[in-house]
Amino acid sequence: MGTKDQPDQGHVDLVIANGTVHTPEGSARLNVCVREGRIVGLTDAAATPPAAKVIDAKGLDVLPGLWHVHCHFREPGHTYKEDFTSGTTAAAAGGITFCIDMTNNDPHPTTLESFELKRATIAPKALVDYALYGGGLYPKTVAALAKAGAVGIKVFNTRHVKEVYPYISELGVVDHGILHELYEAVADTGLLCAVHHDDSEWCKRLTFRDYINAGRTTNRDYMEAYERGYMYGHGMAAGLAASTYYARVTGVRLHVLHMGVMPPAANELVRFAKRQGVDISGEMETATLFMTRAQAEKVGPGAYSWAYAPEAHWEAIRDGTADMLVGEHAPHTLEEITPGWQDAFSVPLGITGAQEFIPLVLNAVNEGKLGLGDVAKLCAEAPARRFGQYPRKGRIQVGADADFTIVDMQARQTFTVADMHTKSGYTAWEGISTQGMPVYTIVRGATVMDHGKITGTPGYGRFHPGIGAA
Ligand SMILES: [Zn+2]
Repeated sequence: MGTKDQPDQGHVDLVIANGTVHTPEGSARLNVCVREGRIVGLTDAAATPPAAKVIDAKGLDVLPGLWHVHCHFREPGHTYKEDFTSGTTAAAAGGITFCIDMTNNDPHPTTLESFELKRATIAPKALVDYALYGGGLYPKTVAALAKAGAVGIKVFNTRHVKEVYPYISELGVVDHGILHELYEAVADTGLLCAVHHDDSEWCKRLTFRDYINAGRTTNRDYMEAYERGYMYGHGMAAGLAASTYYARVTGVRLHVLHMGVMPPAANELVRFAKRQGVDISGEMETATLFMTRAQAEKVGPGAYSWAYAPEAHWEAIRDGTADMLVGEHAPHTLEEITPGWQDAFSVPLGITGAQEFIPLVLNAVNEGKLGLGDVAKLCAEAPARRFGQYPRKGRIQVGADADFTIVDMQARQTFTVADMHTKSGYTAWEGISTQGMPVYTIVRGATVMDHGKITGTPGYGRFHPGIGAA
C-alpha cells in the first residue's frame, strides 16, 4: 500500500481513524474517509477532512468487508431453523459484510419464478449485503437465472445416502449427461458453476454395506466412516475428478465446494486441473482446519466434518490451490440432529459457521498460520473477484463500497449458544475459546455491528446481481 488518495473538497460522512489498514499486499496506518457509502480517501491525519462521524480504530486492524460465500439461510421453506434475518444477523455479529446464499430451499430457486420469489421474500430481511446462487437443475432455465441476477449456479451433484435430506435429493444432479448440459448452459452465461461433487451410487452402496446394514450407525461409527472416506469421502473426490474433465470440455468456470471435507487427495485433483488450464477455483472449509476430534465428539451431529488432515489443507491454502475460505453455515434444529447420536446416517448433518467463521480465522492469525493480508485476500478480494463483484467490493480502495471488518486481535471470546444469533439452538463450536474478534462490521458506511451489539436493521442489506444480469 502506502499510496494515499486525498478526498476531494468538503466534509465526509465517516472517518475510520488511526487504524492499520490491510490489503493482500501489505498494511499501512491510514485514515479511511467515507462519503455516501463509498471510500473517497485514504489519508494521513493531517490531510483528513472533518467528518460527521469518527470511529477511532487505534490499536485495531481495518480489513475489507469480509465475505461468507457458503450460507444456507433456509429461506424460503425452512425458516424454522434459520431465516434471512437471523442468518445475516449472525453474519454481522461475526464480522461478515457480504453473504452468498445457497439453493436448497422450498421452493428451490431453479426457475425464474422461484428465483424471483426468493429474492422478493428476503429483500426486507437482510442486515448485510448478499448475492444469491441460482439452482442448477434444468439446463434450460440457466440463462433466465443469470439474467435475473444469480451470482452463480449451484449444483448438488449428490444425493443423501438415505434421502433424509430431501431438499438436497430433489436438487440432485447425478446424471453426468445433465451435468454436462448444465455446464454448457452456465458457460454461455459466464457465471461460476459451484458444485457439491459426489458419486452418490458409490457412496450409498459402500456406506450401506459396511456401516448401515452392519448396524454400525452411531455418531462414533459415522466419524470412523467419514475418516475412511465413505460419506463425504472418496465418492466426492471421484465426482470431482469427472467434473473437472467435463469443465475442461465445456469451458465452464467451475467452483469447487467442500475442499477439506473431501479427502486430502481431492486437493491434488484441483491442483492438476489448474495446471491443465481449467478455469477452476475452490473454497476451503475451515472446520477441516480448526475442528478438533475432541470437539467433534462433543458436539456429535452438530458437526459433520473435522480437522483430521489439516496440514494437507493448509498446504492447499498456501500454494493457492484453495482460492478462498469458508466456514459453512448449514444449520438444522437440535430436534432434527439429536437422533444422529444413535443413527448419524438418518439425520441431516450440517454445521454452524456464520458467526464463528471469522473469529476462528483470526485465532489462526494469532497462531501464526496466516497473516491479516491473507485474510483480506482469502475472505474478501478473492471471492469478490471470482464472483464478479470487484472492484466495487473486496478491497479497501477509493471508489469501492465502504465495507469494513474492524478487528481487535487481542480480544478473546468463548463461543456459547447464548451469544449466537442462529435459530438452530446450538453452535458446533460450543466452549471453544479464540483470540481475535471483529468489533465493527460496516456495510456501505453504516455500522451494523458495534462490539457485539447489532446496530443494523433488516432490509438494509442490498442484493448484488451477478455478471449475467440483464
Ligand atoms: Zn452447503
